[in-house]
Amino acid sequence: MVAESGHSVSPSASKPAKVAEALRLRDFPVDFFPPDPATREDFLRVHDPQFVNGVFDGRVDNGFGNRSMEIARSLPFTSGSMITAAKLALSRRKSRPVVAALCSGFHHATWNEAEGFCTFNGLMVAAAHLLQHGDVARIAIIDADYHYGNGTDDILDRTGLRANVFHFSFGKEFKRPDQAADYLNRMRMLESELARFEPQVILYQAGADPHIEDPLGGCLTTEEMAKRDELMFGMAVRNHWPLVFNLAGGYQKDADGGISQVVQLHLNTFSAALRIIMADSAATQG
Ligand SMILES: [Zn+2]
Repeated sequence: MVAESGHSVSPSASKPAKVAEALRLRDFPVDFFPPDPATREDFLRVHDPQFVNGVFDGRVDNGFGNRSMEIARSLPFTSGSMITAAKLALSRRKSRPVVAALCSGFHHATWNEAEGFCTFNGLMVAAAHLLQHGDVARIAIIDADYHYGNGTDDILDRTGLRANVFHFSFGKEFKRPDQAADYLNRMRMLESELARFEPQVILYQAGADPHIEDPLGGCLTTEEMAKRDELMFGMAVRNHWPLVFNLAGGYQKDADGGISQVVQLHLNTFSAALRIIMADSAATQG
């Protein structure tokens, strides 16, 4: 899943290893699973064939604006991690309702174009795979990255999958710190909307770029981001909706060029998930 993205402002392509290392170093109680690669057929279900084949052959720009074959080789594994994680969440829905995919956000990739650090749309690759194989009939994509998931909407329109996919992107409406209370209220309101839709799995983009100090984002404090995550995980666990979250965006840089603040924000999402799951299992046993 890991590749060098050249001189891009985005650390996304190297982030999976850094977050995995931090989870191990700090002894987070999580199990690790390798991602199965997505197939060419998986990509062709939601993308223009000329675009897909062009990126894999090095003839068309990827989401980082280059034609790196190293990036191309990582792409089946980043999108594949969403499929693998969703299948794990579905198969273990009783005991382990939350699974993380250590990939980034995907959501700017449209049907026929890479954009904004996103080459292919792994959200839609996973959704279409699960629908095609009959794993589920209804999927929710809750996008809490700072940016609007334009590519996801584009692919939903082009593929006709909208009836099977509930898509809500916070980045379309929530941009400023004075909207933080409304943001969290909107998250609360999603529970009744999702209850009507009855998703069989939720794909949650737990981006770190809504953080108030993010150079490309900025609307929620660290505490508000934790609340955001608790609300999402809380409704998933309460309603028995299996949930996969990914890392999505996050662009804060340390003085030495590292991404420790972004990694910490992602670890906070893991902590929120663990708090909710442990509280739920304590209540169930009690
Ligand atoms: Zn973003």
